Amino acid sequence: MNCNGVIRRVSSYIDGELAATVVEEIELHLKECRHCTIVVQQTKLTVSLYYDSDLVDFPMEVQARLHEKLRRKMREDRK
Ligand SMILES: [Zn+2]
Repeated sequence: MNCNGVIRRVSSYIDGELAATVVEEIELHLKECRHCTIVVQQTKLTVSLYYDSDLVDFPMEVQARLHEKLRRKMREDRK
């Protein structure tokens, strides 16, 4: 499993929709890849904010902020 494979499956992974063998592959990759670990964590956080909040506009704003944060972090990691 490479980064693209993990990123493509990240929402299914969080929703628990993937086969156990695929989950194993993803978790193996996450142990070695900080980028994908961050993506999974941020997506989890975004999803939980969506579910926890009654406000419609709020999560979009939070999500945009998270994406910006994530982009910045990935740029920092590349240095
Ligand atoms: Zn990766």
